[in-house]
Amino acid sequence: MDHLQTDRLKTLLLGIALTGLILGLAFYATGRPDLATTVWFAGVAPVLAALVVEIARSLSRGEVGLDIVAALSMSAALTFGETLAAAVVALMYSGGTFLEGFAEGRARAEMRNLLSRVPRMATRHLNGGLQEVPLDEIAPGDRLLIRQGDVVPVDGHVASASAFLDTSALTGESLPVRLDRGADAMSGSTNAGEAFDLIATHEAKDSTYAGIVRLVEQAQRSKAPMARLADRWSLGFLAVTVAIAFAAWWFTGDPIRAVAVLVVATPCPLILAVPVALVAGLSRAAHFGVLIKGAKPLEAMARISTLILDKTGTLTDGRPQIVSIDSHDGMGADDILRFAAALDQASKHPVAQAIVAAAKARGLSLPAPEDVVEMPGEGVLGRIDARQVIVGGEDFVAQRVANAAGEHPQLAAGSLMVAVAVDGRLAGHMVMSDPLRAGAGEMLARLREQGITRILLATGDRVEVADRVTQGLGLDSIHAGLTPDGKVNLVLVERQTGPVMMVGDGVNDAPALAAADVGVAMGARGAAASADAADVVLLVDRVDRIAPGIEIARRARQIALQSVVAGIGLSVLGMIAAAFGYLSPVQGALLQEVIDVAVILNALRALRISPSGIDAPKNQIEGATT
Ligand code: ADP
Ligand code: MG
Repeated sequence: MDHLQTDRLKTLLLGIALTGLILGLAFYATGRPDLATTVWFAGVAPVLAALVVEIARSLSRGEVGLDIVAALSMSAALTFGETLAAAVVALMYSGGTFLEGFAEGRARAEMRNLLSRVPRMATRHLNGGLQEVPLDEIAPGDRLLIRQGDVVPVDGHVASASAFLDTSALTGESLPVRLDRGADAMSGSTNAGEAFDLIATHEAKDSTYAGIVRLVEQAQRSKAPMARLADRWSLGFLAVTVAIAFAAWWFTGDPIRAVAVLVVATPCPLILAVPVALVAGLSRAAHFGVLIKGAKPLEAMARISTLILDKTGTLTDGRPQIVSIDSHDGMGADDILRFAAALDQASKHPVAQAIVAAAKARGLSLPAPEDVVEMPGEGVLGRIDARQVIVGGEDFVAQRVANAAGEHPQLAAGSLMVAVAVDGRLAGHMVMSDPLRAGAGEMLARLREQGITRILLATGDRVEVADRVTQGLGLDSIHAGLTPDGKVNLVLVERQTGPVMMVGDGVNDAPALAAADVGVAMGARGAAASADAADVVLLVDRVDRIAPGIEIARRARQIALQSVVAGIGLSVLGMIAAAFGYLSPVQGALLQEVIDVAVILNALRALRISPSGIDAPKNQIEGATT
């Protein structure tokens, strides 16, 4: 059966149950109790039949669900002549599946928002005119017209004097950002100002927005371990229910007591509370630009105790500026930069991109590199103008040249170092400044408030650099000089003492992100948004979204647990009351209805979680202004 058919069947069953109940009540009120009973029976039978088929199906898959209690209570009520109670349970059950649809729809609303904005067409300049083209025909280099209110269809850069972009749907950032000519515009944001021109830099499928959409779809399909936990609890709950029902019958000799117990125990939407709360948490986090790939990572995120941060591009700004270029072998500074930049065109490392940008800013022309080999996070080897070039961290280059001994230029505060070798000899060092991100200190303080007990730094840079940059942050320890494998080892060691979250960039730190309980990738630039290794992607290039993300995860999980515990607790109290004869089957059915609705509404509270300290953005979205 496909979705539409299932939905129709559900609506039909709800209609039958409702009509049966109301019609029966009308007959009853007009003094025709025999007819009332028949009509109630007729309203229950189809619901019960559909339910039994459903249960048979899940049992054949080896799943025991709480649906069984609903079926038991309806058949027991019918058997012992409590047709009104049976009719109420039937309505409640079919209504419950409806409530499920509604609550899930609400919970997913925020994520659906992200998806529903995907543009289908774009307006392209061609020979002085304009043409409407489908999204997947846009090629890098195309000049597009983005009208007021349009969603930016592909990643690109602004080709008009300025543009105002609203990224709130992606990042929750309320203020539009102003972009100047040449700035990168992120696909998926909305043009909040006048029409402007955009030069596409990526195809639609490689753009940020496509990555986000893939992520969201993936998140929507996942099932949480806690939802499975609720399934597992159901066996115990089922046993307790049946035991109390039989005990009540045994001691009083009155089967109606057992019916009342079963009816109170029918916890149809209760089990939905967990997925609803968790999905609402995902939605809420997405609203703030924290894309969590599913309920499972959300739960893991709620439990982490150790945080490992990468340095370059995570704790620091990641767009370093060249401070000085020291020559060791007589080569001129511009030549050193030119060799390094030409080779680094092949690398996605943030340092590499900064070097390329600096060389272009100096008007150097960069030949294409050949025979490139990159060790991600360490450096690159290749050939430029028939000369052998190496660019990368100091150790990486020192191990591959003959003249490296003791060549350590002085580092200024907030700096990093890139070594360049040409034809097997160290040509020089580039000293670069890479300051901490604004608000890094506050972010760490907030994380401590969230109960993160250990915060570590993992970097491929030298220990002196790492020490200096992170001075005063109060990190628990600093691990420097790590290769990407070294970061993986650190994650594995830390996991022995508690669940670990690793934050880094989705490219160089991918192995460490994959090794952690929760891997968080910074910034969804380009297709990196779908970074496979990460469980969480920060759509905003701001590390201060981590603490709010964790807060949302914790609260959503709390609300889920609370709903389950309160719902089951109240049901058990009701069952005991029914066993002692304080609740008739009809009263029991109504009581359970109230409990179920309350529990679902409670779960929906997760949609309103507002993490502390997020509503006052200090700086604009950096991902959109670079
Ligand atoms: P972190 O762990 O702090 O993010 P990485 O391990 O990514 O740092 O990089 C460490 C150092 O390696 C950088 O500071 C830089 O000196 C050097 N490096 C790595 N890849 C490159 C590259 N493609 N071009 C230039 N330098 C690089
Ligand atoms: Mg890094």
